[in-house]
Amino acid sequence: MEIEVVRIGQRVVRDDRVTTHVALVARSFGANKIYMNEVNSEIEKTISDINKTWGGNFQIEIISEWKEIIKERKNAGVKIVHLTMYGQNINNVQMKIRNEDKILIVVGAEKVPREIYEMADYNVAVGNQPHSEISALGILLDRIHQGKQFESDFDNPERVIIPQEHGKNVVTNKTTD
Ligand code: SAM
Repeated sequence: MEIEVVRIGQRVVRDDRVTTHVALVARSFGANKIYMNEVNSEIEKTISDINKTWGGNFQIEIISEWKEIIKERKNAGVKIVHLTMYGQNINNVQMKIRNEDKILIVVGAEKVPREIYEMADYNVAVGNQPHSEISALGILLDRIHQGKQFESDFDNPERVIIPQEHGKNVVTNKTTD
């Protein structure tokens, strides 16, 4: 499945750490791409550096208009999955979402405009209590991949962790010229 994520909301500029973590979770839990607006350019560099060190082809696109991206992806047949505590219980919709070919997951920062609820093909609640876009995204991606995302390797890493019962073991593939 092709999975993209867009983080929307006016608070993004003041939420650099949360935005970075949304992008890190998207990358490491098996999404292909994140769209972000109003972000500090340092975030793009942080994620690019992580791709370089730890591998994979996760993409970042800085956008000016998240509404346009949602409309454009929807017109291209991508299903819009909006994470919101007001949505349907994830337990009841995860099977349907798993069967989609392409999805765009929308996560908010603060108050989300009402029209997103109408544009969404799925409004999905990870419980009906308020918590965090980072946790909601991680749980949705895990329900979609059912843990398999942690079994696949990232392409062309400079560094690879060899899991240990105790301690750390990191193999470096970096070539020096
Ligand atoms: N009251 C806000 C609203 O209008 O949705 C909540 C904002 S919350 C701090 C930021 C984002 O976290 C939300 O936009 C949503 O994407 C995600 N989120 C928080 N709790 C959630 C839940 N129980 N289920 C799904 N997503 C959730």
